[in-house]
Amino acid sequence: MTAQVVPFAVLTAPAWARPDEVLLQSARFVSTCPSCRDHRWQLRYSARALIRMLHREQPIEASCGVCDSSWPISEAERTRIADDLVRGTPA
Ligand SMILES: [Zn+2]
Repeated sequence: MTAQVVPFAVLTAPAWARPDEVLLQSARFVSTCPSCRDHRWQLRYSARALIRMLHREQPIEASCGVCDSSWPISEAERTRIADDLVRGTPA
């Protein structure tokens, strides 16, 4: 199953060009739960943590509180997150 990620709502400028406090804030993204197919906001990672996990090719987990499940996001989602971190997509 694939999940959809929508642009970050927190970041308004490229994460790499922002001060440390921005990198430590939660970088929200939405992933679609593979069980219930609802979009779920993911808030557990800071921009810095996401950058580190993307760079190290570590899994990024998403979760659904309704289904009490978690899943690794897809490569397409990882690419979207990386693009959003670079661009700093506005809300
Ligand atoms: Zn669910």
